[in-house]
Amino acid sequence: MNYIGPEAIIDLGKYKNNLLSIQDYVGVHTKVMAVVKANAYGHGAVYIAKAALQVGINHFAVATLYEAMELVNAGIDGIILILGHLTSDELKIAGEKHLRVTISSMETFEMIQELGIKISTHIKVDTGLSRYGFYLHRLNDIPNLIESCTRMIHSKFAIVEGIYTHFSSSDSDYEFTMDQFNIFSEFKKQIHSLGETSIMFHCANSAATIKYKQTHLDMVRVGLSSFGILPFEDMPPGIDLTLNPVLSLKSSITQIKNLLQDDFVGYGRTYKTKHKVKIAILNIGYADGINRLLSNHGLVLVNGKIAKIIGRVSMDVCTIDVTDIDVSLYDEAYFVSPNKTDVLSVKHMASLINTIEYEVLCNLGTRIKRTYISG
Ligand SMILES: *Cc1c(COP(=O)(O)O)cnc(C)c1O
Repeated sequence: MNYIGPEAIIDLGKYKNNLLSIQDYVGVHTKVMAVVKANAYGHGAVYIAKAALQVGINHFAVATLYEAMELVNAGIDGIILILGHLTSDELKIAGEKHLRVTISSMETFEMIQELGIKISTHIKVDTGLSRYGFYLHRLNDIPNLIESCTRMIHSKFAIVEGIYTHFSSSDSDYEFTMDQFNIFSEFKKQIHSLGETSIMFHCANSAATIKYKQTHLDMVRVGLSSFGILPFEDMPPGIDLTLNPVLSLKSSITQIKNLLQDDFVGYGRTYKTKHKVKIAILNIGYADGINRLLSNHGLVLVNGKIAKIIGRVSMDVCTIDVTDIDVSLYDEAYFVSPNKTDVLSVKHMASLINTIEYEVLCNLGTRIKRTYISG
């Protein structure tokens, strides 16, 4: 039986090519860490991580212990860094499973000391995002932090493998990004001058990786760009890097009908027909991640033509106007097209509902079938 439900088609070949292009772009002295948190931005963390391993990328970042364990239990043989906060119990499990944990505060460090077991760690410094990490917003914060870092580095238990920071505005604000980067670089210099040269330093997310080569350091942490989506409008001029969207998203036409003038469509009667209209019902709704703000707004591709969502998107269903399109039962309706079509991209969907590509991807529901291909 053919599957006709909501479906994301995930092209692992494109994912692997994106990673290879990024690795090529950053060069052999910089590792690429595949960020696979939030189920690999909705793409499916285990499949994505396995694909990364196939092209020699074996560093992974996740947000929680639970996400790390999903990879471990699937037999992913890589270096997994947990970016988020862990309780003492979670730190213990992470240590036993040889996961890398983030130390963002002295509290976490003390927990590791108390556990008295060796745990590989990366120290997180906050250079301006004011989220996780040791406060390091200004150069004169460095001496204090050097002192606590030295203590951590000399611990028998918290084995410090890396030190990292995260940019707040690398997609949009060059100057602030450079302020963050310069503080981090100075900190790195001082740690190195203490003879601690084996610790790896990393700071670049997708935007910084693409735009600011100087931020690559020992490793880049790429999420969005590895899935072929840019964190800004266009690739800046002069940058020789081609990335292709990995995911496409479709549903099927499950009923077709004709409406007369002055009929209403959907909950709340938000759409009224101005003339005779042919509509098609699609078996996908906001439970699948088609945001309700796309009501009377979103676009889909049916048989090579663009159709508009009319009426409200409901939980399991939405309705499109196919008056000018030849359609039959079970024809496919693409919300995100596999071809590079601007208005049928995750980026365009995000812009229509005033959010970012990240959120559109993360909201793809669990009910959406993920089908993996290698095109
Ligand atoms: C999510 C995340 C990344 C990846 O960001 P992208 O913009 O998707 O590349 C990198 N580092 C940290 C700390 C993150 O939380």
